[in-house]
Amino acid sequence: MTRAFNFSAGPAALPEPVLRQAQAEMLEWHGVGASVVEISHRSADFVEMAAQIEADLRTLIGIPDDYAVLFLGGGATTQMALQPLNFAAPGQAVDFVVSGHWSKIAIKQARPYVDVRVAADGESGGFRDLPPRAQWQLSADAAYVHITANETIHGVEYPDAPDVGQVPLFADFSSSIASRPIDVSRYGVIYAGAQKNLGPVGITVVIVRRDLLERAGQPRADIFTYASHAARDSMLNTPPTWNWYVLGLTVKWMLGEGGVEEFARRNAAKSRLLYTAIDGSGGFYRNEVAPVARSRMNIPFFLPSAELDGLFVAESKAAGLLALKGHKAIGGIRASLYNAVPLEAAQALVAFMDDFRRRHG
Ligand SMILES: *Cc1c(COP(=O)(O)O)cnc(C)c1O
Repeated sequence: MTRAFNFSAGPAALPEPVLRQAQAEMLEWHGVGASVVEISHRSADFVEMAAQIEADLRTLIGIPDDYAVLFLGGGATTQMALQPLNFAAPGQAVDFVVSGHWSKIAIKQARPYVDVRVAADGESGGFRDLPPRAQWQLSADAAYVHITANETIHGVEYPDAPDVGQVPLFADFSSSIASRPIDVSRYGVIYAGAQKNLGPVGITVVIVRRDLLERAGQPRADIFTYASHAARDSMLNTPPTWNWYVLGLTVKWMLGEGGVEEFARRNAAKSRLLYTAIDGSGGFYRNEVAPVARSRMNIPFFLPSAELDGLFVAESKAAGLLALKGHKAIGGIRASLYNAVPLEAAQALVAFMDDFRRRHG
């Protein structure tokens, strides 16, 4: 068996120790005589595990007590529709800052329920930079301001939480949660599909300031109600138990490795290596994102022609570097360097890039 270096954007690489533990416990978990995926989510063992996972995630990210943590199905995209239903009155204004593909999806999912206001839009600049904060047109009557903390396709990332005044800031952290320390208290809601940086697909983390759960929102079913999920410890209906378990193993692994401060160091080192290789390639490799807005997690880049892009993808795959093909929306190459991607992967990629340029440049 050879496990290649995996640069997939999501679902993405998991830490090998996590996969090994999941494998070892697949048939029988925790002395219960069955797999974790075969037992009731209401059993004492599962409930205890879920409570421990929440405690571990609170420690890892630094989540204050006045925030609830939900573990839900439906992915990040579903949260984009549930947030207007839970936190905005029908037709109320919501401000969106558009920094790439996922900001636009957030608008699309919210549009049936609220008055979408685009506070700033980076599309005319090809999403090569964050719209400057000074130019955002925020509305005092907005239910919340939505940003995408890291744009997984365009490779644009906020260096820190923008100041939006009194209106709560909601942020899609799907592709950058736990990649470095963040100040949770700057946000009203933080949400993330787990499949980039927290574990497997099929489970989504929503961190919500508890006072927001008291907002009436608009007519919706109980199953779409965050407060109901919070009141029932994310077990309003059958949760994705296996995914929750693997997420728990991944969070424990991150804590054991040194937590978000350590991953911040590693992620800075990996991304610096790759950007330096791109910028030092004499124009053979190109990433046009403004340096302050460059993502540490997802690094899109282009070769001089689409033919060379294709050749690069094919040759890198043959060399044991997986999933470097860029997203179809922008083409080119994309390397995702999430927490589970080791420094050696970035080093191998840079060595391959140098060799490829020598042969084809
Ligand atoms: C992957 C991703 C999503 C979509 O997540 P799903 O779980 O597929 O709904 C949303 N936002 C960002 C930033 C992403 O990277």
